[in-house]
Amino acid sequence: METKKVFLNQSDMPRQWYNIAADMPTPMQPPLHPGTGQPIGPDDLAPIFPMNLIEQEVSTQRWIDIPEEVLEILAIWRPSPLTRAYNLEKFLGTPAKIYFKDESVSPSGSHKPNTAVAQAYYNKAFGIKRIATETGAGQWGSSLAMACQLFGIDLKVYMVKVSFEQKPYRKMLMRTWGAECVASPSQDTSFGRKMMAEYPDTPGSLGIAISEAIEDTVTSKDTRYALGSVLNHVMMHQTIIGLEALKQFEIVGTYPDIVIGCAGGGSNFAGVSFPFIRDKIYGKNVRIVAVEPSACPTLTKGSFLYDFGDTAATTPLLPMHTLGHNFIPKPFHAGGLRYHGMAPLVSQLVLDNLIEPQSYNQLQTYEAGMVFARTEGIVPAPETNHAIAGAIAEALKCKETGEAKTILFNLSGHGIMDLAGYDAYLDNKLTDYEMPEDEIREALKVLENYPKPK
Ligand SMILES: *Cc1c(COP(=O)(O)O)cnc(C)c1O
Repeated sequence: METKKVFLNQSDMPRQWYNIAADMPTPMQPPLHPGTGQPIGPDDLAPIFPMNLIEQEVSTQRWIDIPEEVLEILAIWRPSPLTRAYNLEKFLGTPAKIYFKDESVSPSGSHKPNTAVAQAYYNKAFGIKRIATETGAGQWGSSLAMACQLFGIDLKVYMVKVSFEQKPYRKMLMRTWGAECVASPSQDTSFGRKMMAEYPDTPGSLGIAISEAIEDTVTSKDTRYALGSVLNHVMMHQTIIGLEALKQFEIVGTYPDIVIGCAGGGSNFAGVSFPFIRDKIYGKNVRIVAVEPSACPTLTKGSFLYDFGDTAATTPLLPMHTLGHNFIPKPFHAGGLRYHGMAPLVSQLVLDNLIEPQSYNQLQTYEAGMVFARTEGIVPAPETNHAIAGAIAEALKCKETGEAKTILFNLSGHGIMDLAGYDAYLDNKLTDYEMPEDEIREALKVLENYPKPK
């Protein structure tokens, strides 16, 4: 039998995170104050985040030690396996070698605990007793609930109302791990009450839920906010994925030609790809592909502008690819990819041509997910299906050219709690939705009078 899985010993777990800010060809532009439009400093963020995480957010130090307490918890499921998808290769009839990094093995079933555990640790170390956050489909809320429980921190999660009603199992997981979870908009914040009065039937949105969690944070004692993607320190915490993969490819004795991830806010993509992008910056020949949904095409059709992270326009302005903070995507199933913005680090690397963005329609991604489930057994998360669609497309190109390229994609999570989407696909009830150009232009108009990045 050929080697299907490459394992690392626990003692081979990376001891440091990689901070790509140290190697970027173009330095990052600073976040701006939402009121004054001036660059903000660490003190401006202090009411929202603990100072130890703010220091990471602005750091340009290349390697940052992973605290022992964090490693101990990550070791519950890490190092994660690197698996060769032989059956998928055979099904496609491709000479390509397809590998995936399996982040679905974490207790919440995705990559998100990699940063949730780190963030809970740093909040605890800073003396914070309670965290407020938002969640879309519930992946982030449940991952942070587990992490907060393990460090003895209280957690309140504002969950986008439509998911709160349609995805009860994620809510149950959060409660099992000791968190309080309410539907957003809620009666618990003044912004939530305002939204409920103005739009009683609103399904909610990630932007609204972020606004509620931030209001909760700044009006409550010993409370800070936590974000599951987009920010620099979140990207860095996820690099443990790619750093492990580099070691695993060393064991295999090969190096990938193409690295692929799905991109919502950018964190699992950054996690798998940034260590490889570092090699690319220093001359390695490797292609890096970020795959997003056609219905929320932030990198492929959005503009690089300063924008807010939330609907209420209260967060600092970040330089990023965006569809505008008022943009509410059509309700497609990959909930984790329904965000108007993109991590500033990922955005800048796209501008520097180190990352190739691609977009796929919902039906193409479910077809890819079905093929994967029926060849490799694992039912992928709807978000992950985008990465799989990208990997299959590259493998089929190899079939045409006869090249035996090595492809790595990140299996960001499993879809066992997202079966409604598969059900709809099997009943032919899923549709595609392409964002029309004029709708994008319209949604970006709100940013006309804000500062522009250089
Ligand atoms: C949240 C989530 C994503 C999207 O978030 P990123 O920050 O872009 O990684 C992708 N896959 C899964 C399984 C998720 O839970």
